[in-house]
Formats: sequence, C-alpha cells, structure tokens
Amino acid sequence: MFTLIDLPYAPDALEPVISAQTLAFHHGKHLKAYVDNLNKLILGTEYESMTLEEIVRKAPAGPIFNNAGQILNHNLYFTQFKPAKDVMPAEAGISSPTGPLLTQIEKQWGSIEAFQTDFESKGVSLFGSGWVWLAADGDGTLSILQCPGADNPIAHGLRPLLTFDVWEHAYYLDYQNRRAAHLKALWDIVDWKVVEGRY
Ligand code: MN
Repeated sequence: MFTLIDLPYAPDALEPVISAQTLAFHHGKHLKAYVDNLNKLILGTEYESMTLEEIVRKAPAGPIFNNAGQILNHNLYFTQFKPAKDVMPAEAGISSPTGPLLTQIEKQWGSIEAFQTDFESKGVSLFGSGWVWLAADGDGTLSILQCPGADNPIAHGLRPLLTFDVWEHAYYLDYQNRRAAHLKALWDIVDWKVVEGRY
C-alpha cells in the first residue's frame, strides 16, 4: 500500500509562486487520486511488493506505470521546493546550486542562467502533459529530458534530480495558459540543497 506524502511546508508556504489553492488541489486531489488508483490496480499482482522505482522500471506502458510514475514524479516534485520566505535576499536574484552540481552545469551549459533558459524552453516546448527533468547518468553527466505523461528518467536508466510539472493542473489556477511564466517563477522556490543531495 502506498500512502500520500505529507508536504514538508505549510499549504500557503509557496505563495506567490504556487498558491495555496493550487497546492491543495495538486497534492490533495490529483496526487491522492494517483495513490488511490495505484493501490487498487496492484492488488494481487506482482507489483504489490515493489517500490515505486521498481514499478516504474518494470511495468509496461499502461495504467500501473502511469499511476506509479505520477506518484514518484510528484513525490520528487513536491519535496524539491522550500518556502518562498526562506529565500534569502542574497540569493533572491539568482537561484543556483553550489558544489559539484554547479560545476557540472557550468561545464555543460556555460552558466546557471544558460541552463535555466534551456530547461524552461524544453518545458515550454513539451507538447501536452508531462514533465521536464534534469537527470544524471552513472558518470554524473547531466541531461534535460522532456518526458510525456508519467514518464521518469528512472525508466531510462538515469537518476532524476529536478523536475517541473507541465501538466496544466500544476499551474492553470494561478497562471492560466502562461506556462512559460509559471516555469520561470519556479526557480524562486527550488531547494537546491535537496537537488544537490540527489546528484
Ligand atoms: Mn501534477
């Protein structure tokens, strides 16, 4: 049995980037539905004893993969943010990792700004519903993936580090059709310590 994760911050903590209303629907309705669906789908199957990662690696395309993938994706998504008020003035201008992850981003993209522009652009140009990911391979080489539907880098042998949800349910109440504006705003609440920990 899988359970709905608790959010590591208050319901209004991500405002004004993500409203309390969007967070309530996104976490309490959308993610909860994926959890409830998956628990019904795996009853009495080989997937019942697997972790979400194992299901995403092994399940063929279909409802079990989709619901497990969406739970895994949202768990990674919701836990990579920190309250907007915790963004110190010194770091308010630029949202950036430090250490080996920053070094690798600068090596591959030239600068954190160039990386963010590329990441936003790939999120904007992903047709329909899906996720844009920063992922790493076994050598630490980074890539940006455009994953449709419930897809996750784990299904492609890569390690997921950071993700922006481009399903409309993630932003429509706050930004309507302005996906690009939503993605640009998300940098303000990314908890790079969490992302660095995944690298
Ligand atoms: Mn979502």
